[in-house]
Amino acid sequence: MSTPTAGRSARPRKRGNPQRRTPPVLAVDVGGTKIAVGLVEADGTLVHHEQLPTPDGDAEAIWAVAERLIVDATRTAGGDVAGVGIASAGPVDLRDGTVSPINITAWQRFPIARRAAELTGRDVRLGGDGLCMALGEQWCGAARDAQFLLGMVVSTGIGGGLVLDGAPYDGRTGNAGHVGHVVVDPEGRPCTCGGRGCIETVASGPHLAQWARDHGWTAPPDADAKELAEAAGRGDAVALQAFRRGATAVAATIASVAAVCDLDLVVIGGGVAKSGALLFDPLREALATYAGLTFIRDLRVVPAALGGDAGLVGAAKLAISAR
Ligand SMILES: [Zn+2]
Repeated sequence: MSTPTAGRSARPRKRGNPQRRTPPVLAVDVGGTKIAVGLVEADGTLVHHEQLPTPDGDAEAIWAVAERLIVDATRTAGGDVAGVGIASAGPVDLRDGTVSPINITAWQRFPIARRAAELTGRDVRLGGDGLCMALGEQWCGAARDAQFLLGMVVSTGIGGGLVLDGAPYDGRTGNAGHVGHVVVDPEGRPCTCGGRGCIETVASGPHLAQWARDHGWTAPPDADAKELAEAAGRGDAVALQAFRRGATAVAATIASVAAVCDLDLVVIGGGVAKSGALLFDPLREALATYAGLTFIRDLRVVPAALGGDAGLVGAAKLAISAR
């Protein structure tokens, strides 16, 4: 198997310890724009990380990219990994180990768990990418002290996952925590999920930028939430209003989920969350309006700490917890 080259990135955090007794866990994170594979030590340290763009093409072409990355990482680990954890964009189906990501249309019920087990000869644990993000942040990131946690990714789309009573909560099929599809506007826009008025159609990066354009923000056609955040930082009134509107919808969603699940912490990552106070200040302000019940009035909302690595770290935690 050849070594991947295009788009390759290797970001070792720290040298692996040649004396280590336990082989690392191999972690895979599959998304619509990239496929990442890492090696994670028993203490959560990411010691190897490579990623490649998710290709256009058929199901096997996409798997071939994952396979190259997995083979390369296994070789880096000296041929021995302790187990395999996979985080995938959803929907997933844990009952048969398949994934059908909305943003990878060529994968419909793709049997990723079986294919990874055949390739590595190791036990494989599969989880939604939102769940793995929440779990990663709880294990090694901004949510270490949380027992009832919602992890949320606000980016091109909006994803999420739940850790309840200290353990990852899968739901019936593995898709619990899909907070991007909480309806915040019953008369709202159609959503990629097939529904309407989901928070993803209000507060995701592309929709923030679109709302701003519709209300007079002048920006180049390819400008997105990053440029919108820069405009807001310069005091652009429409850009500021776009963030306030998105943050208010996120706050409404958080208050609703917190009331249902009795949460103690919400951790938010993703590109839009990187805009910092632009999102978090109006979010906390709005949350004070929506979180009326006594048991959620002190709910904490914090930025994620692991960035794009949270899915890999959480996938590894899934695999380690299964041993
Ligand atoms: Zn939706």
